[in-house]
Amino acid sequence: MAGVTSAAEPAAEVVKVTRAGAQPSTPGPAANFTGQVRVDTAFKAQAPGRAGGGIVTFEPGARTAWHSHPLGQTLLVTAGVGRVGQWNAASQEIRPGDVVWIAAGVKHWHGATRTNGMRHVAIAESLDGKTTDWMEQVSDTQYQ
Ligand code: MN
Repeated sequence: MAGVTSAAEPAAEVVKVTRAGAQPSTPGPAANFTGQVRVDTAFKAQAPGRAGGGIVTFEPGARTAWHSHPLGQTLLVTAGVGRVGQWNAASQEIRPGDVVWIAAGVKHWHGATRTNGMRHVAIAESLDGKTTDWMEQVSDTQYQ
């Protein structure tokens, strides 16, 4: 019957659970972040899906470098207090429950405050296999 998955097809191709602990926590690479940053539960959709991301934890003072996303990005803040900054605009405080949308190509950063850590889920779709265009670090002056 068309459209019905037969028992012979591997169910893992339809629904795949990656178990907690199956992926080690990884540090945010120094080239793209300032301070202590940890990435957990990284995920990447299988084609034709494009979404990827993970849970990113920033210790106080930690932040991304300036960057942009070819198809935009959604951040779901889950813990702490943080900030999101846009080039040539004042940065904004973000707190748990906040949903942040960053439009395609907008130069920005996100991270903790000086005194509080922050955690968010980050989701971005890839264009030609790339979700992020990384730029220079956010200086202490820009972070103030
Ligand atoms: Mn971003």
